Amino acid sequence: MGNTSALGANEEAVRRVAAWIRDSRQTVVLTGSGMSTESGIPDFRSQGGLWARVDPRRVATVEALEANYPEVRDFCRKRIEEIKRNRPHRGHEILAGWEHDGRVRAVATQNIGGFHQIAGSRTVHELHGSLRRFHCRECGRPAAEEEFLDGRPCRHCRGRLRPDVVMFGELLPVDVWDAVVAAMHAADLVLVIGTSLEVYPVNQLPALSQGRRVLINLEPTDQQALFDEVLLGKAGEVLSAIDREM
Ligand SMILES: [Zn+2]
Repeated sequence: MGNTSALGANEEAVRRVAAWIRDSRQTVVLTGSGMSTESGIPDFRSQGGLWARVDPRRVATVEALEANYPEVRDFCRKRIEEIKRNRPHRGHEILAGWEHDGRVRAVATQNIGGFHQIAGSRTVHELHGSLRRFHCRECGRPAAEEEFLDGRPCRHCRGRLRPDVVMFGELLPVDVWDAVVAAMHAADLVLVIGTSLEVYPVNQLPALSQGRRVLINLEPTDQQALFDEVLLGKAGEVLSAIDREM
């Protein structure tokens, strides 16, 4: 069973994690929706999250792309506007800085807004794809955001355009998944940030590492035993506290 520390209550734990990051040669980060909500992006699954107001079957399934295409586009447009209205926070910047300093090897994320890249992270594995890229369902060629939002067909084959996000009923992108599995196997330290690890199969990833595992999250998880340290708090604040100790 790992230790659970409310930030402030346990500066010792923050120092310990900072030392682990300093000593690590292969730190891999896994981020979830909590990382984005601190930037003002509503999450999908929580109580009061987007899926409490919008039926995902109408806007986020392969079937919806067929049957409710205008509604899917409208839903995506709102999400894209949210992303554009908001910015990465200090936590994103710290992770990017650690990568730049050679401390973080890769960031795997369930978030689709591209904030890690905007903040400067270079090796980002987007497990659920990205709402900043689009392609044709038929021929797979890339398309522009405006083309998708305007409801235009593919320039090449007249097929229907869609965002590069993983819809319900779709598998995670195999190349991304394989890269994250390899990164986890190689990791001697895994930082899980902003997720309670409720969603399969992503929740299986941290256990692949033989190294230390740290959870930074607002709430505890029922997978607490998986972690050597649990720091409860906002990602931006906890990462800032760790960064000050580095
Ligand atoms: Zn096409």
